[in-house]
Amino acid sequence: MSKVVLITGASQGIGACIAETFAKKGYNVAINCRSEKEQENGGNQVAEKCRANGVEAECFIADVSSFEQCGKLVKAVTERFGGLDVLVNNAGITRDGLLAMMSEEQFDSVIAVNLKGVFNMMHFASKVMMRARSGRIVNISSVAGLYGNKGQINYSASKAGVAGMTMTAAKELGPRGITVNAVAPGIIETAMTDAMPEKVKQAAMEGIALGRLGQPQDVANAVAFLASDEASYITGQILVVDGGMIM
Ligand code: NAP
Repeated sequence: MSKVVLITGASQGIGACIAETFAKKGYNVAINCRSEKEQENGGNQVAEKCRANGVEAECFIADVSSFEQCGKLVKAVTERFGGLDVLVNNAGITRDGLLAMMSEEQFDSVIAVNLKGVFNMMHFASKVMMRARSGRIVNISSVAGLYGNKGQINYSASKAGVAGMTMTAAKELGPRGITVNAVAPGIIETAMTDAMPEKVKQAAMEGIALGRLGQPQDVANAVAFLASDEASYITGQILVVDGGMIM
């Protein structure tokens, strides 16, 4: 029977690429998006592209910042596909601003999606995986969470928190045969980074050993590896995928 992967925030960008990468590897794919609009404008098309690989795929609506909706999402996916082998916590937002200028709403909204959303999803998915005594969780952190980034105090706090939760969950779930790892991307070309001025991108590239920005596929390949049988003895790790930006 095909394995089942659930990817949050997968209607576009890195999440959509992760979904298609798993479909190419023969997984049945559950795509999560936040709203009906996202489902119509992205999620359903991603599911269709996945199905073109001969696997089953469907888009499920849930806001990961809602504990209740995450519970319903995991239940719906498990019932539809008969299990859950891999969870990829990819959904994330930015609301940038300097420390002294940042509003409470900017801080809280990023923490709610990027940090609490990962807790919510791991909470419910781990129960299914513990019963199966196997599973893989891959969380998307960021180099901003490991090294900080000016203008992103909310985002870097959330992504550092994801790294901490990854290690704690790895310790708790390891004895049940579940691995928990994180991927920390550098600068990847998606809608999230489209807003960066060209000058800033050029300056950033000069500090990247490989001399280019990352592509969603670079991240998806790392996620797929951490979910694979070849990575069965790797847990609690934060794998940086940044082209050699920070060393
Ligand atoms: P993106 O294109 O903005 O995609 C993020 C996805 O998350 C969107 O589909 C978004 O849907 C979804 N999402 C947001 N809030 C959600 C919620 N409450 N519930 C469910 N889904 C939600 O960004 P990306 O660049 O692909 O980023 C993917 C992940 O990689 C994020 O966690 C990001 O922090 C991380 N990352 C990205 C970079 C980079 O350079 N791009 C670097 C490091 C880490 P909506 O459109 O409905 O908001």
